[in-house]
Amino acid sequence: MRRRLITELGEKGIVQDEVLKAFDAIPRHFFLDLAFEQQAYSNMAFQIGAGQTISHPYTVAFQTQLLGLKKGMKVLEIGTGSGFQTCILCQMGVKVVSIERQRELFLKAKQIIHHFNFNPRLIFGDGYKGNESFAPYDRILITCGAPFVPDALLDQLKPGGVLVVPIGSLEKQEMYRITKGEDGSLTEETFGDFSFVPMLENVNK
Ligand code: SAH
Repeated sequence: MRRRLITELGEKGIVQDEVLKAFDAIPRHFFLDLAFEQQAYSNMAFQIGAGQTISHPYTVAFQTQLLGLKKGMKVLEIGTGSGFQTCILCQMGVKVVSIERQRELFLKAKQIIHHFNFNPRLIFGDGYKGNESFAPYDRILITCGAPFVPDALLDQLKPGGVLVVPIGSLEKQEMYRITKGEDGSLTEETFGDFSFVPMLENVNK
């Protein structure tokens, strides 16, 4: 089933071999409730608790491809969620810092990520603030729908760095790739509509 999903991702335009290899290496069914196990390799989103979802595999692959990763880069992820995307990044040989605001998901993701023997920095906190102590980042990936790009994250992006973020309303967001020039200037590109759970403010648990 995983092989079939990888073929499907290829047909939909995921061409980076490293991304497809990471999807081959990380078993997505580990990240889902037993009830959804049979459908883990269909291109679907699922509930992961606390009203949140694990993104469609295509969406994870698409965002990952947009980042244009090279081994050894430092990547900040906002929205650890199930930890699936975090593991895909780790598998691709980058150093990951990931922030989650829901304690229940943060604790669950931590367990499963360590099960795979990956060792990213997992932070319970507010993604709007990023994380200054590990900045600057080569890449920043926001995996929830943001109303705007938080200034703190742009500040924490290295010159020459890339930030991928879905921006829009609660219902629908457009995928943006923002590249920071060596002089600090920002260039935006857009890549179509997606639908993410919202990026929320304030840690409330
Ligand atoms: N990358 C995840 C996607 C999970 S959905 C995966 O592969 O499963 C998006 C996640 O972003 C949710 O878990 C949600 O709780 C989290 N989130 C929303 N607003 C946030 C914020 N301000 N800071 C950190 N995480 C946030």
